[in-house]
Amino acid sequence: MIKLIDKLYETSTLERAELLALLDGLDETSTKYLHEKAHDKRMETYGNKVFMRGLIEFTNYCKSNCIYCGIRRDNKNADRYRLDKETIMACCAEGYRLGYRTYVLQGGEDPYYKDEDVVDLIKSIKSEFPECAITMSIGEKSKESYQKFKDAGADRYLLRHETNTKALYESLHPGMSYDNRIQCLYDLKDIGFQVGAGFMVGLPNQKNEDYVNDLLFLKEFQPHMVGIGPFIPQSDTPLSDETSGTLEKTCILLSIVRLLLPKVLLPATTALGSLSGKGREQGLQAGGNVVMPNLSPTNVRDKYLLYDGKICTGDEAAHCRGCIERRINSVGFEVDMSRGDHLDRVVE
Ligand code: SAM
Repeated sequence: MIKLIDKLYETSTLERAELLALLDGLDETSTKYLHEKAHDKRMETYGNKVFMRGLIEFTNYCKSNCIYCGIRRDNKNADRYRLDKETIMACCAEGYRLGYRTYVLQGGEDPYYKDEDVVDLIKSIKSEFPECAITMSIGEKSKESYQKFKDAGADRYLLRHETNTKALYESLHPGMSYDNRIQCLYDLKDIGFQVGAGFMVGLPNQKNEDYVNDLLFLKEFQPHMVGIGPFIPQSDTPLSDETSGTLEKTCILLSIVRLLLPKVLLPATTALGSLSGKGREQGLQAGGNVVMPNLSPTNVRDKYLLYDGKICTGDEAAHCRGCIERRINSVGFEVDMSRGDHLDRVVE
C-alpha cells in the first residue's frame, strides 16, 4: 500500500488495477499515510489556505426526480421556495460585507427561471460586485444556455457527475441519461468555465470498482473542482432506509483525488460536516481546500433539505462565517477570502 501511495504522490497517476488494490487494501496505518501525503501535496500547491465560497440556495423546486434527493420532484413533503432577484442580491451584498468574493448560486432544476432570468441575475451580480466570481450550479442545460451564462459573466459551473458507473447512474436518476450528464460537463469545459464534477460516497450498491470508475473519469476529464460528499438518506425519498456513506471512506477518496489532481479545488462539504461534528475539519486534513458556508436567508435554509440532519440551517450568514473560520484555524489552516481560482486560471 505504501508503495502505491508513493507512486500516486510522485506521478499523480495509478492504473485501474492499482486504484482498486489501494481501495481494497487500505488499513489504519496506510490510510493515515495516504492522508499525510495528500496534505503534503495540498501544501505544495495551495499551502495552508482554505478558500471560502458563499453558497446561495435560491430555489428548491426541481423537475428532476433523483431517488436520493430530498428536493426531488415527487417529494410532496418538501416545502418549496424560490428567491426573487432582490433577495438574491441582498444575500450577495451581505456576503460581500462579510468578505466573500465568490458566490455559488445553486438550485434544483427549476423551469421558473428562464435563461434570460439567469442571465439578468448574473449580469446584475457582476455589475454590482465586479471583482467577485460567480459559480452556477443549476443542473443540466443545453450548450447554448451554458454559453449564455458564460457570456453574461459566470466564471464557474458545478455539475457533479454523481457516479461514473452508467448502470448505477441510471438506476438513481429516473428519466435522466448518464451520457447527457457527461456531455454537459464536456460542453461546460469547451465553453471555458472552470468546471466542477464530483460524486457521492456510500450510495446503495456502490462498490470500490465504482469509485475507481469515478477516479479514472476525473483523471481523464481534469475538472478544476471536485465535489465529493457522503450520501445521506432523506426520510421522504425512496432511499430513506438506506445507510449513509462514511466519513472515513469520503476522506480516503478526497485524499486520492488530491493526489491524482494536485491543483484541484476540493471542498470539505456540508454533507461531511453533517455526518460528523468534525467532518469538515477532517476533510481539510485529508486534502480539501475549500469550504462553502451558507449565505441563504435563514427563513429558507431548513427547506433546502437534500438529506436529513443538514447542519447550519438556523444560523445567520455572519455566524457561519465566524464558526467556519474557527474550525479552519483549529486544524492549522488559514482562511483565504480571495476569489480562489484554480491555479491554472488565476486572474491577475
Ligand atoms: N440541481 C443541480 C444539479 O443537479 O447539479 C444542483 C443541486 S443538487 C441538489 C446538488 C447536489 O446535492 C447533487 O449533485 C448531489 O450530489 C447532492 N445530494 C443530493 N441529495 C443528496 C443526499 N441525499 N446526500 C448527499 N448529497 C446529496
